[in-house]
Amino acid sequence: MTQTLPEPMVGEVDPFPTTSLEELEEETRAGVESAVAGAVAAFGLGALAVASAADQVAQTVEEALHRAMVTGAALGRVTEPVIGRRQSLGGTGVVLPPLRAVVSTVLDGEIARELREWLGRAGQALQATSVGSRSLRLERIVRGLWAWVLTRIHRAVNAGAVWAASSAGVGLLWYVRVDERTCRRCMQMQGRVVASANLRFAWPDSGLGAVWAGFDGLPPLHPRCRCFARPYVV
Ligand SMILES: [Zn+2]
Repeated sequence: MTQTLPEPMVGEVDPFPTTSLEELEEETRAGVESAVAGAVAAFGLGALAVASAADQVAQTVEEALHRAMVTGAALGRVTEPVIGRRQSLGGTGVVLPPLRAVVSTVLDGEIARELREWLGRAGQALQATSVGSRSLRLERIVRGLWAWVLTRIHRAVNAGAVWAASSAGVGLLWYVRVDERTCRRCMQMQGRVVASANLRFAWPDSGLGAVWAGFDGLPPLHPRCRCFARPYVV
């Protein structure tokens, strides 16, 4: 299949930082798994271990989300100094929040709280499992935890991209990481664009059924979806 890829907005930076995103994901996954493994080593295979991993997992995840947002913002090649300068020159007339403010809005304790709740429930489920089955149950919990984290990483990338697009007054392009893991649903979205007035994508009625309830008009399209949106001059 031949793909026509658009030109980057400015400069020569790779507009599709698949490698840096995958590195970020791998590092975060390793961090999350080692936090849980460390807690199990300290507290045994039960509810206490899972719940006590929450703080370290939350710290790992918050750092990852911060990096993900900065990566998403960099997709537009729009940096804070550039925006700040434009504002101070009265160039746009629009007061935009600096990326730091967007980051703190997205993180601001919510992630840690949600993680604690999620891990609390998972720990109770582990405690209710017979001792002989707990290792397998823990593996499932860690897989579920990673899916939860990955979806948030992808949302964070897109929060950064939306910030960059809003800042620059441009639209967004839906970019799909195309390889053997790409699903038909995501391929439906490949290359779609939305204009600056409405930075949300619609799910096309293309015979593939209803869209995931968690879809908010930006990638991810489904849990574990690896798509992202990037600023694009429509
Ligand atoms: Zn996708």
